[in-house]
Amino acid sequence: MTTALFDLDNTLIDRQEAVANWARTFAADHGFDPAAEAQVADALGERAYPATFVRLRDELGLAEPAAQLWNDYVQGIAANAKVRPNAIEGIEQLRATGWKVGILTNGAGDIQRAKLAAAGLADVVDAIAISEEIGARKPDLAAFHTALALCGSAQGAKAWMVGDNPQGDIGGAHQAGLRTIWLRGRTWPQHLAAAHHSVDTVTEAIEILLKEGNQ
Ligand SMILES: [Mg+2]
Repeated sequence: MTTALFDLDNTLIDRQEAVANWARTFAADHGFDPAAEAQVADALGERAYPATFVRLRDELGLAEPAAQLWNDYVQGIAANAKVRPNAIEGIEQLRATGWKVGILTNGAGDIQRAKLAAAGLADVVDAIAISEEIGARKPDLAAFHTALALCGSAQGAKAWMVGDNPQGDIGGAHQAGLRTIWLRGRTWPQHLAAAHHSVDTVTEAIEILLKEGNQ
């Protein structure tokens, strides 16, 4: 039995586009000037938590309570979270051929679970490991080990990681002894060892896994 772990944001779903759409609408609703809109987009760029909205509320003098802003953001992003074409079919195909499939993502539990449900991913995988819930973040080894354990993968068994973040997904997975497929997009840091495969779409990554077989 082989296990494949997938990153969520900008791997199985297009987070960048969802956040950009939300920030544009949010800025228009609040009548922000371009500088304030850029400030919002920037604050949400890599990762957002409830604390992000405590800070933005202060900086931009917003009227709504921070908790409400966070809830609106969670709902807005979930509504915009579209799974990438053929990803669900590919995951189902992997599982039908004996693979265990898990999602390992950094972030807050509520927003990641809202996105997973909205994108139709919550019920098609063996396990979901979210950093806030498991108490470990990629690239920490504990995050990978916990995700594999949740999939029912035996320690030391063959496993793969598919993700777009060079350090978090690929560097971390290498240290944890996993094989890796990098989804191109970000700049690759020179000091980091290359992934086993590099691809442009998650569909290509799944094709590689299917070819590898579940041995
Ligand atoms: Mg990612």
